[in-house]
Amino acid sequence: MSGPDFDAEHSFANLVRELTGFPLVGMTYSGGDGSWSARHWDRGTGLEVSATHCENVRVIGDRLQISWNDELRPAERATVSQRRSVSCWGAQVHGDLVRRKVLVVGAGSVGLDVAVRLAATGMAHVSVMDFDIVEFGNLDRLIGATRRDALTRRSKIEVAERLMRSAATAAEPEFAFYDLSVCEQGGLAVALDHDLVICCVDRPWARVILNQIAYADLVPVIDGGISVDVFDDGNGMRNATWRSHVLRPGRPCLVCNRQVNVSDVSLDIQGLLDDPTYIAGAGRERGGENVALLSVSATASLLAQFVSFNVAPGGIGEPGPLQYLLCTHTLEHLGHTTRDGCQYENAEAAGDRRQDLSGEHPAARAQRAIRACATESRIDRWLSRLAEVTHRLVEDRTARRNRPD
Ligand SMILES: [Zn+2]
Repeated sequence: MSGPDFDAEHSFANLVRELTGFPLVGMTYSGGDGSWSARHWDRGTGLEVSATHCENVRVIGDRLQISWNDELRPAERATVSQRRSVSCWGAQVHGDLVRRKVLVVGAGSVGLDVAVRLAATGMAHVSVMDFDIVEFGNLDRLIGATRRDALTRRSKIEVAERLMRSAATAAEPEFAFYDLSVCEQGGLAVALDHDLVICCVDRPWARVILNQIAYADLVPVIDGGISVDVFDDGNGMRNATWRSHVLRPGRPCLVCNRQVNVSDVSLDIQGLLDDPTYIAGAGRERGGENVALLSVSATASLLAQFVSFNVAPGGIGEPGPLQYLLCTHTLEHLGHTTRDGCQYENAEAAGDRRQDLSGEHPAARAQRAIRACATESRIDRWLSRLAEVTHRLVEDRTARRNRPD
């Protein structure tokens, strides 16, 4: 941006602040390479406004195009380990792809796999959010988690960190891990600080929060999941279905594409979907069942949407909502459209004026408490072992001193 343009924007910013009471976002477009830059003008402690430069500008359509401020988010250096990835889409696309800041919400069977594959591709800024701990019942689906993880009640994000760091090919990966629910204020704030979110949770409250920010805050979300349909007598599989879709302006939201039932959101907020008595009384199925043999297909479906949305192979971006039916091996393009008066899609770019659906999340708080106890007991065990070794050393030393010459 030239000096005179910057000065002109500065003068507008002062005027806008005086007239509206709001800060100004200044944006410039370069006709040469089609890139954008942006600045946020606001007052600090004094009366005069000053500019804070933006790290990037996202343009969201059937693909996600991003213009970068190289000083604030420097380009990533491709490593030798990424040579074959680079050969698939070229150095320029790869360099742009691995700079993107991606949040994976949920580190279960699908989310963990997604996060590890992003790390292996060379993505340098990947975050993972999950408040859950590893249990023995997870080990048939959580590839890479161990019996020891379950025994020590390790958190899923600790497992994700271990696997991602061992798979990472970025020169200096900046991974972040959040022991939060995206339904909590802190979790929501983290999600808003990313270029793209991949939703790998099946709970309606979390999904509807992400659904909201995809439109109100223009943070695109790739959502999906898998469900296994079992015969009523529990004896045999009827079908399995996995879906994937990008939530963004121009595509139907999760409610319009019938992925979330709004009445389930309030049940989830009240904790009733964790209450076996309520589930049995309401005649509901617990849902969320999955097997490792198929969760990889849900991962593949989400990551194929990710590649189409970020790389646009053949110049074609994301394909819209997809559904795969296992029993017939049929891939369907779903034709859902926006309902009249959809509150999520109508709140496009509302930002902080969106309805606040975040709140206390008792299950997340309880899991953190369990993990804190497990961590303490790990420290206790380590201190006991240290005390034992020290005691033995002192005993040996004393014995040597007292030994007759
Ligand atoms: Zn909608």
